[in-house]
Amino acid sequence: MGPMTDPFALVDDRCFDVHRARGDHPERPERLDAARDGLRRAVGDAPVLALEAAEVAPADLAAIHASAYLADLEDALADGWGHLDADTFFAPGSREAAFRAAGGAARLARALMAGEARRGFALLRPPGHHAEADRAMGFCLLNNVAVAAQAALDAGAARVAIVDWDVHHGNGTQHVFEDREDVLFVSLHQWPLYPGTGAAREIGRGAGAGRTLNLALPAGSSDEGYADAFRRVVLPSLRAHAPDLILVSAGFDAHQRDPLASMELSSAAYGAMASALLGVADELGHGRVGFVLEGGYDLRALEESVAATVAAALGRSSDLPEDAAPAASRAAVDATLAAARVAWPEGFE
Ligand SMILES: [Zn+2]
Repeated sequence: MGPMTDPFALVDDRCFDVHRARGDHPERPERLDAARDGLRRAVGDAPVLALEAAEVAPADLAAIHASAYLADLEDALADGWGHLDADTFFAPGSREAAFRAAGGAARLARALMAGEARRGFALLRPPGHHAEADRAMGFCLLNNVAVAAQAALDAGAARVAIVDWDVHHGNGTQHVFEDREDVLFVSLHQWPLYPGTGAAREIGRGAGAGRTLNLALPAGSSDEGYADAFRRVVLPSLRAHAPDLILVSAGFDAHQRDPLASMELSSAAYGAMASALLGVADELGHGRVGFVLEGGYDLRALEESVAATVAAALGRSSDLPEDAAPAASRAAVDATLAAARVAWPEGFE
């Protein structure tokens, strides 16, 4: 199936809009409308495979989250309105949104593994990458991308990679998989910043040593800094791991317009990063890349960046910038390479 006839898989559901805070909160339903606008603009009249976001299967959830947490979460969500931590709200309808978000992410992973499509996007809320096995955290109730990764493995993938380009470290995802050899987790994030984890020295443990890679980038990192991180760490580690599916924890809060962080990415940078990941997926012979929405709190930035990402996924490729990265971000990439050398003595090639 060539790129012209290959459908673009899409998970979306109006139930995600019901999840909202009682007062002002950056993680709001309007975010999804902005992302939808960007996606629609990029897709145009290309074929779309609409995937249902059914409630996540209990076994898929139990593979990632502790049963005691799931029981506590069900009890809490039955109350209607409230908070699970200082930042993490819930509302009537949040249970359906969260459980169908995780189910939609799993559905996307299974569709890509089954050859129903090669590329797809799960437009969902609440986000997931801060959710730990045993607690909600940082606007996240269930770890959608982790559920998706495990679903892909259960569907026959030997290895999966998760690239997390949200500006915040994906602590929950890292902790779920850090002792596992079959899931590569590569996170690019502003450092220091919430949640405080994701130092370069965190490289996984046991059988998973070297399969966690943290690019702890300085505030103000630009398209060039991210390009350097992609060329020297993200892309070679993906080639070395050779995943059967690349999942992207696709937050858009490293954008220069984002109000919650201080990075300087352009909208176009997301297209270039997506193109680079698609290139590796094509080199690996399968072309499978699934994007799962995480953060991103400026509506215009979200719309433009999702459009750039989806355009790349549909084959309108763009290149990472060639200009040299500033010394501070090069040093951050050097730190990741130095830490990873323990597990990858010959480098990634
Ligand atoms: Zn974020």
